[in-house]
Amino acid sequence: FFRPIEKINAIIESYPKGYSGFKRFIALLDTEPDILDRPNAAELPQARGDIQYRDVSFGYEKGRTVLEGIDLTIAAGETVAFVGPSGAGKTTLCSLLPRFYEIQEGAITVDGLDIRDIQLTSLRRQIGIVQQDVFMFSGTLRDNIRYGKLGASDEEVWEAARRAELESFIRGLADGLDTIVGERGVKLSGGQKQRLSIARMFLKNPPILILDEATSALDTETEASIQRSLSELAEGRTTLIIAHRLATIRHADRIVVVTPEGIEEQGSHEQLLKRGGHYAKLQQAQHVYA
Ligand code: ATP
Repeated sequence: FFRPIEKINAIIESYPKGYSGFKRFIALLDTEPDILDRPNAAELPQARGDIQYRDVSFGYEKGRTVLEGIDLTIAAGETVAFVGPSGAGKTTLCSLLPRFYEIQEGAITVDGLDIRDIQLTSLRRQIGIVQQDVFMFSGTLRDNIRYGKLGASDEEVWEAARRAELESFIRGLADGLDTIVGERGVKLSGGQKQRLSIARMFLKNPPILILDEATSALDTETEASIQRSLSELAEGRTTLIIAHRLATIRHADRIVVVTPEGIEEQGSHEQLLKRGGHYAKLQQAQHVYA
């Protein structure tokens, strides 16, 4: 009974950009079949989360390469933030990992296994994506949170809500977890929706996380407290952050600067500042405009 839903779950929860509506999702399913399991694709047990991109090239259309010859090694448990100009390919780079698109050259591995040799559902089970457009369906809060792990007990749902700092909000509602959300129910704020998606990820508990940082404005306090929840979520997982703000990535283990020419530089915040390159200039510019 759960199989097709699990599949939907794996796809929707993690689709890279803005597929929040069910109709668009169906359209997506129709286009999905180009990516299939290889006949001998393996089931990946819980991954450690070592990731490697080896000489990866990719373009959405023939003759127009977005990423070329990308080499990148990310250790299990490491937090890596991608920064760089809009359109440079940060999102694309991350969406190749759950195989939303097939690379044209090179290889991407998880724990040393080529991702094309791993069953797609099993690969996507290892990867959680938190993005600004949170997929919500009409139903109870319980079901919306449980979407991260179908069949989770109430106890697990509450624990996830607590870690996502959503507990007191839910306790304050007359119907608690039975509260209907969506068009016919309680409308959640942008921050609450993000917390809900964080709660789902605590339930899903994937070894690999992709955080697509919100560009839409949240007030500073909400922003800071969501950052706290996200840092807690990232703990012990390999985390890739598609960063839009410099302030939030300062503490990443590594910052990777992606430009249309490829990976221009990488290192810690301090290392990159000392280097005086692209990242240092971005920092300066932010101070000038702040
Ligand atoms: P931003 O900071 O604005 O999110 P980004 O660095 O994440 O940008 P991408 O979204 O990866 O950049 O886009 C890289 C390039 O690929 C851009 O030229 C973009 O127009 C193109 N692109 C992105 N998604 C698609 C798609 N689904 N089909 C065709 N081209 C795409």
